[in-house]
Amino acid sequence: MTEPVYRVNEIFYSLQGEGFYTGTPAVFLRFSGCNRLCPFCDTDHHAFREMTAAEIAAEVSSFPSRHLVATGGEPLLQLDSYLLRALKARGFYVQVETNGSRPVPPEVDWVTCSPKEGPWDIGRIDELKVVYQNSPDHLLRLAELLPATHHFAQPLSGGNVPETIRFCLDHPRWRLSLQTHKLIDIR
Ligand code: SF4
Repeated sequence: MTEPVYRVNEIFYSLQGEGFYTGTPAVFLRFSGCNRLCPFCDTDHHAFREMTAAEIAAEVSSFPSRHLVATGGEPLLQLDSYLLRALKARGFYVQVETNGSRPVPPEVDWVTCSPKEGPWDIGRIDELKVVYQNSPDHLLRLAELLPATHHFAQPLSGGNVPETIRFCLDHPRWRLSLQTHKLIDIR
């Protein structure tokens, strides 16, 4: 069997800035490419280098943390059981940040879904994380369509913090998530 090759945009080490694992030292594995074309996308995920599962596992293991965040782009276009098993063999707990468009392989430990345009086909969500755009109905509808264990509302970049706090106070299933990495100026 030919060994699969993955298109990796970057690998870096930082703190998880958002959501349930905020503040957790984590290795970020950013895949190149996405299946959505969100007009507000501010992530440069197009450049890539091709890497095998063994090469990825070796590079992410050079950092002290064994919490890995697979992100993109859309990581589930590429992250498969083969690579996940290589990461698991190195002791990694794998968190995925996905737009909800692809089924999650069973080896993933934690699913963070920030749903963009549907259709969605994900199966399992631990954490639903949505930017609050001053429309309570939008978040409540997403929570109905995409059942999750934890719910996070995130203010728009540079605005509407009071409105997002108000939403959480009125809908206490939702917790406030700030982009703390931007507040403290780290990656
Ligand atoms: S789903 Fe995420 S990575 Fe993909 S285009 Fe939209 S914002 Fe960018």
